[in-house]
Amino acid sequence: MLKTIPKEITFDGTFLYITWKDGFQSKFELLKLRKLCPCVTCMGGHGGSIGSATSHIHEISLISWKKIGRYALNFTWNDNHDTGIYTYDSLREYSEKNLI
Ligand SMILES: [Zn+2]
Repeated sequence: MLKTIPKEITFDGTFLYITWKDGFQSKFELLKLRKLCPCVTCMGGHGGSIGSATSHIHEISLISWKKIGRYALNFTWNDNHDTGIYTYDSLREYSEKNLI
């Protein structure tokens, strides 16, 4: 589906911007995006609870991003965290539902 394929991805000190192939534009606050990290640790695996690994984070910068196959993005944050894989479907859904 065109709508869940990014055409252009950019970021600055506060936001990540995605323009999708259907023309829809999304803007994600980096701090919220970091706290939504879907990796096992951030989602409360390894004996923690949801949010316990990210609740102490009050500011964050994005260092880089890369595409994972044809379905997701992976971010490297300045807290040395880079294990989250954010699917295009979930990013688009966050944006359309104003969850972020
Ligand atoms: Zn994580």
